[in-house]
Amino acid sequence: MMAANVSLAAPPPFDAERVRGDFPILDTMVNGRPLVYLDSAASAQRPLAVLRAVEDYETHSHANVHRGVHALSQAATAAYEGARERVRRFINARSAREIIFVRGTTEAINLIAQAWGRPRLRAGDQILISALEHHANIVPWQMLCEQTGCTLKVAPINRRGELQLEEFLKLLGPHTRLVAVAHVSNALGTVLPLKPLIEAAHAHGALVLIDGAQAVPHARLDVRALGADFYAFSGHKLYGPTGIGVLYGREELLTAMPPWQGGGDMILTVSFEKTTYNELPWKFEAGTPNMSGAVGLAAAMDYLEGLGVEAIAAHEQRLLQLATAELARLPDIEIIGTAAHKASVLSFTMKGVHPHDLGTILDAEGVAVRTGHHCAMPVMTFFGLPATARASFGCYNTERDVASLVQALGKAREVLA
Ligand code: PLP
Repeated sequence: MMAANVSLAAPPPFDAERVRGDFPILDTMVNGRPLVYLDSAASAQRPLAVLRAVEDYETHSHANVHRGVHALSQAATAAYEGARERVRRFINARSAREIIFVRGTTEAINLIAQAWGRPRLRAGDQILISALEHHANIVPWQMLCEQTGCTLKVAPINRRGELQLEEFLKLLGPHTRLVAVAHVSNALGTVLPLKPLIEAAHAHGALVLIDGAQAVPHARLDVRALGADFYAFSGHKLYGPTGIGVLYGREELLTAMPPWQGGGDMILTVSFEKTTYNELPWKFEAGTPNMSGAVGLAAAMDYLEGLGVEAIAAHEQRLLQLATAELARLPDIEIIGTAAHKASVLSFTMKGVHPHDLGTILDAEGVAVRTGHHCAMPVMTFFGLPATARASFGCYNTERDVASLVQALGKAREVLA
């Protein structure tokens, strides 16, 4: 029975103003104005909890990992392997052996291309991606095609920036060996329908890699429930440090793959005649790893779970809806990417104004948005644009930030139009 003093009222609304206090960088003044940071899709800011965890590791626990019997080496190893276990819990992987630390999403995808794809694929095999991918999920496959003779297929998107699922399904066939798609588009904010896509790929015997760089900060990830074979993401988009990221892979697949880089830590024994490789996950982590990065990433995960991943996601959805409605009212603004299901990204153009000029004026007002092709040139080509401006939202953004964006757009109109 429930205790009498337990309230059944709805949980308190997400307090982004309080959250801002955890991010000292948000107090920065830019051009004499308070910073309005709307560029978390490029890199999120770090909370004090992450900064302190990194400092604590560097101050008290740093030494090289895995190969020392002395106390500091053991402390460093415990911190690094503890971080791996933290990641495992955060994404609900079955085993810490399925968590490979990498530099980021880009490195994770290259690892799969080279360690899974290169020894296996040959002429006639196909890799299927979508038309809204980041360059990190295009170029490694093009390189693999050059190396092996396999072919890259691209499933189209519609004018709203949604994957055309019917067309995707038509492109799946007996020669499809791998489907590699984004969970969330960084240029458009589109959330892809992963469930049907993964099921269809598996029904055709293809493996699935998900580029989760833009998804993990905005939704609870459960890799077991999702059912993808590989999942990649970057620490710096998840309020953690740069230079650290994660490749999740199903253990039996990773076990069957050869290492992709050779060196220290990824071996068990070395002789000039024969070298034997280490077990998972170290087989894929040649050289001294980024220990403080891993510690910072684990701290970011603690921090996010403390705030509540679902509460953050709901807050960001409210901001996205508010910003979308506000910008839709402006006659000279066109929103690029109007998918029914979006996360935290709002791309747009202003009539007659180059996005770079727009970005410069917004910066003068203290508003940080990203302008450019967002490493998704084929998306820009599809929409016939050289670039867009992109506002993206994180746990520390507020309705005030949306109002500042709208006000700065007004200023840009005065100056540029
Ligand atoms: N994939 C997507 C969807 C991204 O948004 C990004 C970064 O913007 C990447 C991959 C590459 O991430 P990183 O540069 O951290 O490797």
